[in-house]
Amino acid sequence: MNLELNEEQKLIQETARAFAKAELEPIAARLDQVDDQPAFLGNLKKLAGLGFMGLNISEEYGGTQAGMVAFSVAITEIARACASTAVTVSVNNLVCEVIQSVGSEAQKKTYIPKICSGEFSAGCFALTEPGAGSDPAAMTTSAVLDGSEWVLNGSKRFITSAPYAGVFVVWAVTNKVVPKGKGISCFLVDAGTPGLLVGNAEKKMGQHASATNEVLFEECCIPKEALLGNLNDGFRVAVGELTGGRVGIGSLALGIGLAAMDYATKYAHERVQFDQKVTKFQAIQWMIADAYTELEAARLLLMQAAFKEEQGQSFTKEAAMAKMYATEAANRACYAAIQMAGGYGYSKEFPLERYARDVRVTSIYEGTNEIQRTIIAREILKNIAQI
Ligand SMILES: Cc1cc2nc3c(=O)[nH]c(=O)nc-3n(C[C@H](O)[C@H](O)[C@H](O)COP(=O)(O)OP(=O)(O)OC[C@H]3O[C@@H](n4cnc5c(N)ncnc54)[C@H](O)[C@@H]3O)c2cc1C
Repeated sequence: MNLELNEEQKLIQETARAFAKAELEPIAARLDQVDDQPAFLGNLKKLAGLGFMGLNISEEYGGTQAGMVAFSVAITEIARACASTAVTVSVNNLVCEVIQSVGSEAQKKTYIPKICSGEFSAGCFALTEPGAGSDPAAMTTSAVLDGSEWVLNGSKRFITSAPYAGVFVVWAVTNKVVPKGKGISCFLVDAGTPGLLVGNAEKKMGQHASATNEVLFEECCIPKEALLGNLNDGFRVAVGELTGGRVGIGSLALGIGLAAMDYATKYAHERVQFDQKVTKFQAIQWMIADAYTELEAARLLLMQAAFKEEQGQSFTKEAAMAKMYATEAANRACYAAIQMAGGYGYSKEFPLERYARDVRVTSIYEGTNEIQRTIIAREILKNIAQI
């Protein structure tokens, strides 16, 4: 067993860390408060130039082909500086992976290089609907074949990157008669297609620089060839691809948790009360010990899930465990970090309250942690005979 990163993974980690420190960290607090899309998109373009949009994507399609461990460590480093950038990079990688895994050769060659190179600032993963979140099979957006075109109608909610995406991977019902989940297909819809409308922006608690919008389809016509993967196989594709996405979200949460604890620990080591540094108090030492131990456990769970994916093994249970544990450990770490800094931790003068707002959503999106627990239990009970 070797727990060390290899040379390529280390290089990617160091590159991400250096970029995050130099370009993302200096503007993260401002982007939390004011809308500066050009600055945000400018950094995405630079990250694309460094190869971060297709870390687990074949070089043939413009990816970096560095694997899922490299993807995980890169997202953690980016999230240490800017969670909004990290979620956008994570979703872009996810969109590339969906297209790579089920797209036709023409679709792969048309879309993946554009996301990887930064020609498209982003791609969207449009699954959730107002009435279909944890239960995406309950979606009602429909796609009806009319001659040589599919006609899409319906609405999606909470779609990351919608205002500046070049392409949308969209799930829609193509057969209403079959049992739930068996008649859903996946499509590629170009931004700017008539009938594709980007609607209201969510007013969120955190991750303000990353746009999250409603997306509407009103008699939106796309070519027959825009079907992604097999007809009526879309639900399986969505569920399968979200497994990899969960490694991204767990890694993102880990980055925010580490940023919060690093900041709070350095501060507490300077702060003097009762004539001594507050890190001399056992109460503060235990917060440090607990949070870093949990974050390290989260890192190991993430590495295990990513490693199994690289080995071509099933990693459904491991990805769900890693996402659930990392996001909850990071939430606890962000709250502990605020406590360690006292009133300053609660003030906007410090970044700690931003970290706590940014980390909160990680236990909700790409499958809530209640759904992760359901997946973990299902996978364990599947193999009950081996227990
Ligand atoms: C900032 C942000 C960005 C997002 N980006 C995207 C995106 O790019 N693309 C996309 O498609 N979606 C996106 N989402 C949507 C996200 O994936 C959903 O919000 C999430 O899956 C939960 O769905 P819901 O909000 O409808 O909650 P609900 O499903 O309504 O859940 C409400 C509560 O009930 C619980 N619950 C539901 N079902 C069960 C069950 N079977 N067992 C136990 N508990 C259950 C949930 O865990 C939760 O606590 C985003 C959301 C946010 C907030």
